Amino acid sequence: MRPLLFLATKILLTTFAFAAFAQTPAAPPHNVVLFVADGLRFRMVDDRTAPTMAAIARDGVSLRNSHALFPTFTTANASGMATGHMLGDTGDFSNTIYTGWEVPSAGNSSTPFLENDAVLGEVHAHFSGNYLDEATILKLARDKGYSTASIGKLGPALIFDSTERSGGQTILIDDATGTPKGIPLSAEVTQRLQAVNLPPAAPSRGANGAAGNVSTPGTTNANVVQQDYFAAVTTRVVLPMFKERNKPFLLVFWSRDPDGTQHNQGDSLNVLVPGINGPTSFAAIRNADDNLARIRSALSELGLLESTNIIVTADHGFSTISKESQTSSTVATKFSDTLPGHLPFGFVALDLAHALNLPLIDPDDGYKIIGEGQHTKNGNGLIGGDRNKPQVVVAANGGSDLIYIPDGDTTTAKRVIDFLLTQDYVSGIFVDSKLGKFPGTLSLDDIALEGAAITPRPAIAISFRSFDTVCGEPVLCTVEVADTALQQGQGMHGSFSRADTWNFMAMQGPGFKSQFVDPAPASNADLGRTIAHLMQLDVKDNGKLVGRVLSETLPNGAVPAVTSRVLVSDPAPNGLATVVNMQMVGETRYFDAAGFSGRTVGLSSTILPAATQ
Ligand SMILES: [Zn+2]
Repeated sequence: MRPLLFLATKILLTTFAFAAFAQTPAAPPHNVVLFVADGLRFRMVDDRTAPTMAAIARDGVSLRNSHALFPTFTTANASGMATGHMLGDTGDFSNTIYTGWEVPSAGNSSTPFLENDAVLGEVHAHFSGNYLDEATILKLARDKGYSTASIGKLGPALIFDSTERSGGQTILIDDATGTPKGIPLSAEVTQRLQAVNLPPAAPSRGANGAAGNVSTPGTTNANVVQQDYFAAVTTRVVLPMFKERNKPFLLVFWSRDPDGTQHNQGDSLNVLVPGINGPTSFAAIRNADDNLARIRSALSELGLLESTNIIVTADHGFSTISKESQTSSTVATKFSDTLPGHLPFGFVALDLAHALNLPLIDPDDGYKIIGEGQHTKNGNGLIGGDRNKPQVVVAANGGSDLIYIPDGDTTTAKRVIDFLLTQDYVSGIFVDSKLGKFPGTLSLDDIALEGAAITPRPAIAISFRSFDTVCGEPVLCTVEVADTALQQGQGMHGSFSRADTWNFMAMQGPGFKSQFVDPAPASNADLGRTIAHLMQLDVKDNGKLVGRVLSETLPNGAVPAVTSRVLVSDPAPNGLATVVNMQMVGETRYFDAAGFSGRTVGLSSTILPAATQ
């Protein structure tokens, strides 16, 4: 009798305990606002230039050892933030990639620019419905029943939930909103826009979009008008809606400034100083900061500030453009849109076609053959073969380019690498390890570009040379050779210099420590992972190249052990070796800078002490 009674009691107690547990659900997570100031360099933020961001860094957590993912471009880093994975998994290797198939919305180009909602839709459809092949934080958040919105710059805004194209779940507002190319607005959002007298279409960039040309300076206007609309929609429509729903929310605000303005600024036509440090660029930094200040005020007025974690990051840093080379075959040719002796847009494609003695086909201009004195429309090129079977493909991006060898021919790869090693504009060559080892180069695997990606993997990634104009702090006045339609003296990014990898990063809110300077390395992939942790999202990974939860930023979190490493390739016959400066936390890798010794700002060939020592 006693044992039975004991058993019954035990069952009863277990049932009570279970019921008690079931009746006490975990506290709902705090809200998260992820604010991305596109192209904001870490060291540009202080009380004068960006007071709101400076205050968040000072009062919350300052991530001074922050990292953009290489290639240091927008869609690539958006994919990292959105999935918590590095680019070898997300397959978003750069803003312009080779898809191996002609994308209708990109004018049938096989080298589409991904900052386009229609192009993203078609690329998804082609690659099994999700080219990233990982779930994004916005999708996981709405799966949990949370409110979600992504507002701002065309391309990265949609990448945060790009398989949701109905507008019915995640609120998506970008440059294309209100046009047939945009993601539709729900009836509820349209009605609320009307109620506060905001139009249902985003304004264009206006004067801010003027890039100028070789004889006309670019813009002197920050992107104020367009971003005023995005900030107004966020503060007067979306946040009040989220407040009424009374559920946790995840909101992404992607400020095109300072990036778009730093690219196009007309402060420095054809000269390297002030470059991207002129008044127009400072106005753009202030514009981004003003947008953040408005969002913070709205959170405060709605009584949401105490329950919202604000995370501020930049997708990448920035540099001033150089178009000079002593070695390129193109500088002896006259181009109608290029200063004599300067590198034309598409110089890598032109140089490689010349070196391989093969025709150059323009994938962005009806697959026409490029003649003497011409360059391809968007810098991209198919070299040899035909439009369906090119031997070599160049995807031009800016401070770094991608080169594809679709048939995987190692002899072609060797000829391309041998040529690249002779060019003064190259600093760092990374080769798909499937193609073998080549002296002077490291592998894509060495920089986390070989993973579970389902888009075509480049054969070679090259970073371009960088130097500084001597301003006392090299990362603040870095100049890089760039494959771009923009002019010398305007702005670009994409390289493996520390000027381009060192992005601004800070966070503040109930989930974070206060007044904490984080010495440990952090990356944009870590932010995706950290947001998933804060919001208790159910993450399932396909690839293994994952960021880490930045646990040292959380209350009671300890600073992890950090190790520093320098990777050095075997030297090429001419003595060049690709060097990578990296840090590690456990298995998670952070790349500070890479390239050839003496050709990359921030690159050291000696081993540095770990950040936490
Ligand atoms: Zn940019």
